[in-house]
Amino acid sequence: PRPSPPAPALRQTPPAPAPQPIQRDPYLPPRPRVAQPSAHAAPQAVQPTARRSTASTAVRATWRPRRTVDHDVSPIIVDRLIKSYNGTLAVHNLSFVVQPGRVTGFLGPNGAGKTTTMRILVGLATPTTGSATFGDVAYADLARPQQTVGCVLDASFHPARSGRNHLRVLASTAGANDRRVDELLGEVGLGDVARQSVGEYSTGMRQRLALAAAMLGNPDYLILDEPANGLDPEGIRWLRTVLRDFAASGRAVLISSHL
Ligand code: ADP
Repeated sequence: PRPSPPAPALRQTPPAPAPQPIQRDPYLPPRPRVAQPSAHAAPQAVQPTARRSTASTAVRATWRPRRTVDHDVSPIIVDRLIKSYNGTLAVHNLSFVVQPGRVTGFLGPNGAGKTTTMRILVGLATPTTGSATFGDVAYADLARPQQTVGCVLDASFHPARSGRNHLRVLASTAGANDRRVDELLGEVGLGDVARQSVGEYSTGMRQRLALAAAMLGNPDYLILDEPANGLDPEGIRWLRTVLRDFAASGRAVLISSHL
């Protein structure tokens, strides 16, 4: 009888070792699952944000989390959104839902349409078709927009005005008083420079001031376009704490990044 052929080489290969979990820096937060601004983006589930003790004690000391909101917060709903600028397609058929109680990352390279989507959400641009609403209410129809939505699209200010002065001007329409302004300045870590002109602020300090302005009206939603730009590692850690606490109180955060 003929000798039997050797067994296929593949059979002789030992089984591949089981994949090992990648060791991550324990001080990093869990990776968020993100809504991608692409033509095929479907509503995505995102991880619930859990309170974690990742921030330094110093950072925590300047931030006082708010209590859980005592009313229902509807999700942000972006539905089959298309925006074209004279033939340039800025947003192509984008749909996603931003649930309250979570931080939702909105990720895409430069030019992907993130800012345009956020501008449409707050009524600064009109969609070609589709919609972007808070529950089923468009921004322009909100009864108290500053007290409902806090938004940072561009952290630029009049350079000659102080941070405190900037917030005091906005406070009058946000239903906030000077005490709230000073409280907020402390919470965002600008208490010591509140009376300096914004022209002397670093990029990170301007980001903090922009966030304070967005939160003046104690809103249910935060919409932030690249808020980590210019922040140092301590600032980024601080921002994560602020956003996580904001979401943990039952409100919704949409945050864009190209990273
Ligand atoms: P991202 O924020 O993801 O970087 P943008 O929303 O700023 O992207 O831009 C998406 C696309 O839309 C880009 O090609 C950009 O050039 C274009 N775009 C944005 N705003 C305008 C506008 N006002 N007029 C014409 N084209 C625009």
